Amino acid sequence: MFYGQMSHPHGQTAATVAKSPPVTDNLHTFSPIGHLRTPFADKFGIPRQPSLAPHAIATLQLLPPYDRPEAVRGLEDFSHVWLTFVFHQTAGQWSPTVRPPRLGGNQRVGVFATRSPFRPNPLGLSLVELVGVDTTDKVTLTFRGVDLVDGTPILDIKPYIPYAESRPDARSGFVGGAPERLEVIFSPAAQTQCAKCQTSHPHLAELITEVLAQDPRPAYADDPQRVYGIRLYEFDVKWRCDGRSAFVESLDTP
Ligand code: SAM
Repeated sequence: MFYGQMSHPHGQTAATVAKSPPVTDNLHTFSPIGHLRTPFADKFGIPRQPSLAPHAIATLQLLPPYDRPEAVRGLEDFSHVWLTFVFHQTAGQWSPTVRPPRLGGNQRVGVFATRSPFRPNPLGLSLVELVGVDTTDKVTLTFRGVDLVDGTPILDIKPYIPYAESRPDARSGFVGGAPERLEVIFSPAAQTQCAKCQTSHPHLAELITEVLAQDPRPAYADDPQRVYGIRLYEFDVKWRCDGRSAFVESLDTP
C-alpha cells in the first residue's frame, strides 16, 4: 500500500523496490557516549514524551573517547537537540503490536505506529531543550524536559533544525494533541516537605506538579482511594487521584 508512487533513483517504482532482495542483515554495535542522569528513578510515572515536564532536568557527562570539548564546539548555539538512546529497561521485549496508553491501554496498534519502548531495536528519540554545555573539566551537557529513566544510555546527540524538521500541520494519527492535564493539589505536609528541600531541589514542587498533571496512572485505573508512589530523585512521592485532580499526600525518603 503506497501513498503516491515514489519514483526510485534507478527508475524503478516503489513497488519494484519493495521486491528487491532484503538488505543483508548485518548486526551493528553501538557504544554509548554517556548515560543520562535524570530525576526519574524508575519508568513508572515518566512523562510519555519530552517537554511535558520542563523541570525534568538531566545531565549527560560524555564518556571517553567522546569527551573531547571540540566534539561539542558550536552545539551551544542550538536551543534544542535530538537524543538517540537505548530503551535499556525494555531491550529484547519487542512486540509487533502494542496498546498505547492514549488509546486507553486496550486497543492494539502496530509498534511502528507508536513511540512505544517495546521495539525490535530498542532505540528511542527525544527532542529536548539544551540548557548547558560545560567543558571546563569534563564535557557535561544539561537538558530540560526529558522523558527518560535515570541511567539511560545515550548513543547520539544531533542539533534540532526547525526549518527542516518542524511540521506543525503534520497528521498525528491516534495521538492528537498534548494529553489532558490533571489539577495537582499538595497536602500541607507535602508542601512543608517540598519547602524543606528548597536548597537541594529548588524546583521539586514544579516537577511533581508537571509529572502528576500527566496522569501517569495505568490507563484502566480509577480507584480514588488507591495511593500511588512515584520515585523522583531520592523521594517516593505518594499521591492519589480523584476525578481530574491529583492529591500529593507526602514525599517519603526510602
Ligand atoms: N520520546 C521517546 C521516543 O519517542 O522514542 C520516548 C517515548 S516513550 C513513550 C517514553 C517512555 O519510555 C517513558 O514514559 C518511560 O516509561 C519509558 N522509558 C524511559 N526511559 C526508558 C529506558 N531507558 N528504557 C525503557 N523504557 C524507558
